[in-house]
Amino acid sequence: MTAARDCDIAIVGGGPVGAMLGALLVRGSHTAGLRVVLLERELPNEHARGGADLRVVALSRASERICRAAGAWSALSAAPDVLSPYERMHVWPASEPAHGTGALTFDAGELAEPNLGYIVGNTALQSAALEALRAGGGELRATRVDDLVFEADAVRIETGDGALRAALVIGADGGRSVVRRAAGLGTLQQDYGQLGIVANVACERAHARTAWQRFLGEGTLALLPLASGECSIVWSLPKARAEALLALEPAAFSAELTAASDGVLGALTLASERRAFPLRRVHAPVYVRERCALVGDAAHIVHPLAGQGVNLGLLDAAALVDCIDAAVASGEAPGALRVLRRYERWRKGENEAMGLAMDLFNRYLAFGDDALGRIAQRGLGWVGRAPWLRRAFVERALGIAGEMPAAVSRSGRSSLRR
Ligand SMILES: Cc1cc2nc3c(=O)[nH]c(=O)nc-3n(C[C@H](O)[C@H](O)[C@H](O)COP(=O)(O)OP(=O)(O)OC[C@H]3O[C@@H](n4cnc5c(N)ncnc54)[C@H](O)[C@@H]3O)c2cc1C
Repeated sequence: MTAARDCDIAIVGGGPVGAMLGALLVRGSHTAGLRVVLLERELPNEHARGGADLRVVALSRASERICRAAGAWSALSAAPDVLSPYERMHVWPASEPAHGTGALTFDAGELAEPNLGYIVGNTALQSAALEALRAGGGELRATRVDDLVFEADAVRIETGDGALRAALVIGADGGRSVVRRAAGLGTLQQDYGQLGIVANVACERAHARTAWQRFLGEGTLALLPLASGECSIVWSLPKARAEALLALEPAAFSAELTAASDGVLGALTLASERRAFPLRRVHAPVYVRERCALVGDAAHIVHPLAGQGVNLGLLDAAALVDCIDAAVASGEAPGALRVLRRYERWRKGENEAMGLAMDLFNRYLAFGDDALGRIAQRGLGWVGRAPWLRRAFVERALGIAGEMPAAVSRSGRSSLRR
């Protein structure tokens, strides 16, 4: 690398995906010698690790392996109540009783796995990844990126504290990515017209380490089991209905929530403040250009009804690290377009397929009241009665189906094809 550059790789955005990407890079077989700088405008509060995050994510087995490879898992598992394992998923439509033949249950035991994954606070995950990046020798700068200038031999990154030059810039700066805009990589966007309400709730009955999900006909309610005994809710609803619920007093909100859950865990009582996120689908048709790549929400946002956003982003991060590692090993420049195109070929199709699947789930399972919707809802029961289909679904839930980066595959070998 030339001396005029301040670093080899600059990552813009230190959310869970950007931070994990940095932590993987500083530990890669051939990337470990590269100078990696991460630029984040808003570092998480050190105290947020205690498990009080309202925004949680369900980490798949694939994501667990990526966190381990990145050196972030020990910090998560060392603190009490940060990781909440879940062993079952129970899904049912509003037209069926919670435990009727139309419901679908997956159990980790079917694949001889100890659990299906872990619920973890978004900030705890981000903090553990940032710490792993620092511990591995990466540099973290608290600054906002305003613009990029693509020069002949580097990218100049304009920040609130001056400029720096890198051989490759990676946009991990979320749905409103500055990197995506500055690199001229457009997006296709679809507003679902929905809000996702998140909060923690106390449950009258034990959650039995099960992730409960009910398709409501007017959205979706997920009850994610926390180690504290409470559940974290993600309640996706049309905007006007969600705003009306947010305006209710806690007791009235709790009563509506209990009704929406069909009483599956008895009475639910609000145990935290409520927060709401607008839901949209975002999809960049092109993820890369010379010296620039997008990962995570900067490249794609999917409906959260199956909790796949971070899981897809972590797979992007691990796949991109495999491509860069292979490039460095063979003497190619990490920012060369042909190197970055391998990453795009690997991940774009998978992410688009998941975005489309979430669209269809939202249209026909969460909202569908027409003939197709009724068929889809009945289909849950059919899946439950077909062992091979159940197995395919559990493998998908674990995130271990398809082409895997080295951090995820059991052999430690990447599925990367050149
Ligand atoms: C209601 C809801 C529930 C969800 N539930 C789940 C779930 O159960 N499971 C799951 O996998 N996913 C879930 N998701 C999706 C998940 O939260 C996102 O996919 C995930 O946060 C994306 O991570 P990221 O690191 O790509 O982006 P972000 O988390 O958005 O991080 C981007 C980072 O970039 C920084 N940044 C932005 N611009 C700049 C700039 N100009 N300069 C410097 N820094 C910048 C930001 O401060 C931020 O830290 C859910 C989403 C919603 C809305």
